[in-house]
Amino acid sequence: MDKMKTSICLTDDELLLLDGRCLPETQTIIDSVKERNYLSNTCSLTESQSKVIVDIVTCARSRGAVDFRWTAISGWQSCPVCGKRAGYNLFKTGVNKGKENTKKPRYIYGAKIGSEFICNDCYKALKPVTVRHLALIQCELATELMSEGMVKMVKSVACKCNKCEWTGHEHQILAKMCLMGRGYYPGKCPGCGAEKTPIFSFNDVFTYDYGSWVIVPLSEHIVKSMNDKVRV
Ligand SMILES: [Zn+2]
Ligand SMILES: [Zn+2]
Repeated sequence: MDKMKTSICLTDDELLLLDGRCLPETQTIIDSVKERNYLSNTCSLTESQSKVIVDIVTCARSRGAVDFRWTAISGWQSCPVCGKRAGYNLFKTGVNKGKENTKKPRYIYGAKIGSEFICNDCYKALKPVTVRHLALIQCELATELMSEGMVKMVKSVACKCNKCEWTGHEHQILAKMCLMGRGYYPGKCPGCGAEKTPIFSFNDVFTYDYGSWVIVPLSEHIVKSMNDKVRV
């Protein structure tokens, strides 16, 4: 029978008292508090700055990849680091003069890293420390988040062949030339040579396990199969 559980809210200091004496799920949370404290102390970051970096680093560990894109937030949304709210333009006339017009949102531009939005100013301030920390983790990073001279690594999902005993990761699957000879796609089993038919067909050769992966250096073979944008 499951042990009885209780949900409560703890401060960081209370949580740290359980360090090393709790279930793995709780320990994961404690580890991120410790990491946050470490960052605040050693890199002189504010609590919210450390939190966002630890969230990004946690995402790198749990998903094996961190993506990056320039984006914007608007209206009621705010930057989680500095707390700046996008807001709305104000009514210039009429009975609502001076109040926020929710039909006319303002925007704050910034970056989305993993699932975290950071405004441009905060990103500028945090980029060096974020990049430094991400470099310590085995994961696939968007080019913007890579440190200089770093080898590009890619996440490769575990998979197996349904026709033979072969197991490996998706980027070990051999490239096959597309119909009409335009590029390649990963489609041939390295074990038995069974071939997956091209795009838009039912894949009966390989089974993928998206919960498990390896991080491998980007090779010519991978570039070739990625350039075709044919993902199996
Ligand atoms: Zn900000
Ligand atoms: Zn096979």
